[in-house]
Amino acid sequence: MVSYKELGLVNTREMFAKAIDGGYAIPAFNFNNMEQLQAIIMAAAETKSPVILQVSKGARAYANQTLLRYMAQGAVEYAKELGWEKPQICLHLDHGDSFETCKSCVDFGFSSVMIDGSSLPYDENVALTKKVVEYAHQFDVTVEAELGVLAGVEDEVSAEESHYTKPEEVIDFVSKTGCDSLAISIGTSHGAYKFKPEQCTVDPATGRLVPPPLAFDVLAEVEKKLPGFPIVLHGSSSVPQDEVDTINAHGGKLQAAVGIPEEQLRKAAKSAVCKINIDSDSRLAMTAAIRRVFDEKPAEFDPRKYLGPARDNMKKLYIHKIVNVLGSDGKAE
Ligand SMILES: [Zn+2]
Repeated sequence: MVSYKELGLVNTREMFAKAIDGGYAIPAFNFNNMEQLQAIIMAAAETKSPVILQVSKGARAYANQTLLRYMAQGAVEYAKELGWEKPQICLHLDHGDSFETCKSCVDFGFSSVMIDGSSLPYDENVALTKKVVEYAHQFDVTVEAELGVLAGVEDEVSAEESHYTKPEEVIDFVSKTGCDSLAISIGTSHGAYKFKPEQCTVDPATGRLVPPPLAFDVLAEVEKKLPGFPIVLHGSSSVPQDEVDTINAHGGKLQAAVGIPEEQLRKAAKSAVCKINIDSDSRLAMTAAIRRVFDEKPAEFDPRKYLGPARDNMKKLYIHKIVNVLGSDGKAE
């Protein structure tokens, strides 16, 4: 048993309370490798933004849970070296699929876990979430739960269609489970293909696809039922079209990739939404930079010469999200 407190990590409780009061959101960035983690920490340290490092099931399978946890521990020390005296870094399990997975993360130094019972019948979701909360809270580890189903694909999380969260269920769910935050479904979805072209309209000026707006009415209803309770948005990448264009200009083939417009996320960040998950955008930034090097310098074979630019491009993206979308800069001085 390792306590996250010994590792210098923090849970989400204080982060979220301050974010709701301050009208901003905390970035939750997924990581699978060193360059991604470096970019996240450099961006957070430079902007003095609290940050949530997320480990998904896919990341655990790819990089190993043990290695990722030690990387997060190293990230705290690295942040201090960068001059961030009191780093506020949370290590979070993304989409925990069972009590056992959540328990193993709690026991191993994670400061926050998500239990995703959203695909289960309501009562089973309540029972599973409650069990995880009872275990995690003994160690002051915070728990995110989910109600409503998101469309799209993120690792093994998939659903044919989106089912918006039912606002009439949230009070009962939160009071029965004791969860610390709640991921809701209001039209965001996982991956870089969030909407089918037929769901979108076309911007006549640019010819780009414009996705349907998020269900802010559902969010407002949830907020009314649970005033001041932390709400989480998954699947909130914006799929920057300049990165998509760079990828396609250098041999890639991403067609009709569509994300959530940043002005909608900005609006959400000012509400009870206090955690916004961003994963695909960093994948796009990394891939765009690597493709450019491979295309422009075909003789290059030193991984540092293409992973370095990839890291720079991800850092730029993270800083942009923190400063221009979430508003979390300067909140962890
Ligand atoms: Zn998710």
